[in-house]
Amino acid sequence: MTADPNCIFCKIVAGQIPSKKVYEDGELLAFHDINPWAPVHVLVIPKAHLATLADAGPEHAAMLGRMLALAPRLMSELGVVNGFRTVINTGPDGGQEVYHLHMHVFGGPRPWKRG
Ligand code: 5GP
Ligand code: ZN
Repeated sequence: MTADPNCIFCKIVAGQIPSKKVYEDGELLAFHDINPWAPVHVLVIPKAHLATLADAGPEHAAMLGRMLALAPRLMSELGVVNGFRTVINTGPDGGQEVYHLHMHVFGGPRPWKRG
């Protein structure tokens, strides 16, 4: 499935819900989280709908690698110079709330609201 009509992150990809974008290419999108836990809190998502990391297979390995490799570039561009944290919540026990795969990237001085 490329897009799920009921998925809020697919709607963000389609521009139907506004977001503060920080990066976009043909495969990935990154935007500021609407409810940030940290001074810098962005979400990196694949544009194609994939509900959760539990659904990923070997065919997704390159995309997952590019998501991870984007984090240091984004943090640098956003002025984060003292380290950052990457999180992918997966499934109910992983605390996932939005079922479109996303990687949180947190940066900035602590203490943060959560985590
Ligand atoms: P999860 O708990 O699924 O790992 O995280 C979902 C994240 O998506 C939350 O941090 C939440 O604030 C963020 N979020 C939910 N809806 C929206 C939205 O419409 N726009 C943006 N920018 N972030 C959202
Ligand atoms: Zn989606």
